Amino acid sequence: MNAFQNALKQLKIAADAMSLDAAVLEILKNPERVVEVSLPMRMDDGSLKIFTGYRVQHSNARGPYKGGLRYHPKVDLNELRALALWMTMKCAVVGIPMGGAKGGITVDPKKLSAGELERLTRSFTRAMKDVFGPERDVPAPDVNTTPKIMAWIMDEYSKIVGQPAPAVITGKPIAIGGSAGREAATGQGAFYVLEELVKKLKIQPQKTTVAIQGFGNVGYHMAELMHKAGYKIIALSDSQGGIVDLRRRGMDPKNVMEQKHSRGLIGNMYCIGSVCDGTNYKAVANGKLLEIPCDILIPAALEHQITGKNAGRLKAKIVLELANGPTTPEADEKLKRKKIVVVPDILANAGGVTVSYFEWVQNKQGLYWSEAEVLKKLEPVMRQSFSAIWERHLKYKTTLRVAAFVLALERLRDSIQAKS
Ligand code: NAD
Repeated sequence: MNAFQNALKQLKIAADAMSLDAAVLEILKNPERVVEVSLPMRMDDGSLKIFTGYRVQHSNARGPYKGGLRYHPKVDLNELRALALWMTMKCAVVGIPMGGAKGGITVDPKKLSAGELERLTRSFTRAMKDVFGPERDVPAPDVNTTPKIMAWIMDEYSKIVGQPAPAVITGKPIAIGGSAGREAATGQGAFYVLEELVKKLKIQPQKTTVAIQGFGNVGYHMAELMHKAGYKIIALSDSQGGIVDLRRRGMDPKNVMEQKHSRGLIGNMYCIGSVCDGTNYKAVANGKLLEIPCDILIPAALEHQITGKNAGRLKAKIVLELANGPTTPEADEKLKRKKIVVVPDILANAGGVTVSYFEWVQNKQGLYWSEAEVLKKLEPVMRQSFSAIWERHLKYKTTLRVAAFVLALERLRDSIQAKS
């Protein structure tokens, strides 16, 4: 099954659980619009290359489309359809007045020079000039896209419309209208959700081990927050592989990040200053990291990591989904049978889109908030969303994923029916 089929299956399970109106389900099964653009680009060596860019707009029933842009060699339409549907659900889960979309370019940005990356991004923006817009569709960063890329998009779009248009995109550098707190928002939001969950499950951070797959924006910030709160981070990985702490005492993510920067990889050894330990800290392959005995497993990389094939081998008690769509429906079934609690992506990583929405609000009103104000607004959104989902989890005697979809679908149904 591809990612979109998986997303549709999740939608159907929740719709059945709550007896959703069939017409509402039909509307939400299909994206409202799919745009594909061809992007010819002059490379630095003078040759011409054609790239393909996409934007899938799933639903604007609750407000302008919102969702990230991904630059990755494996970007394809079915993946984007799924990610766009999840964005619609996510925005509804946290109750923000925005819809769902996702886009990107099929490219490995690591193989482009800085100049090529900028030209490709500006060309993509020109091709999407009638698709994006502050009141229409507001993109944001995702895998391999950065605040700098958001700045190029804002700049190019502003030139096209002949006026500064900061609200066309979020995740911008603070100097041009980005929000304080945006970079760490996804990890921070997940951390508030985790705090609510540990209260329900009566877990003590100091006695809790954690493995994190994906050591980028989201994985790193979450690792930092958990480390500071006393959780023991015993395994971390990025696309090149990972590191595991055999003594299970816990690693400082900052040290691992320094290693990543200085040596280009995080496996094999753990260094504090110039002292490195290659005996108690070993390399671990990405797939194996998921199967490490730990209390909390955090997929924070790409989708489809926990599948029907490996779900039976997971040893974690909790899976906290920071990546989008890391668990397939087949795996969900197995995890449910193993009584592993899965905190779904559309709740766990919704802090990112919530602060993106705050950035858009600040751009539109021209009044900016401090990081403390942003976090003060984020915290109740995440905690209340968790409680609303927990209530439905008990009411419908179902998983947190189904409960989260039910909450989103209740809100989407109300918006759709109010207009019909
Ligand atoms: P990123 O590009 O900053 O980091 C991705 C990380 O995953 C990198 O460390 C990369 O090396 C690693 N990775 C890639 N393939 C891997 C593999 N097979 N095994 C292990 N690690 C691998 O991206 P990000 O912004 O941190 O996004 C990560 C996930 O979180 C994505 O699924 C994204 O959709 C989701 N997400 C991000 C945000 C956000 O605010 N950035 C918000 C919500 C959801």
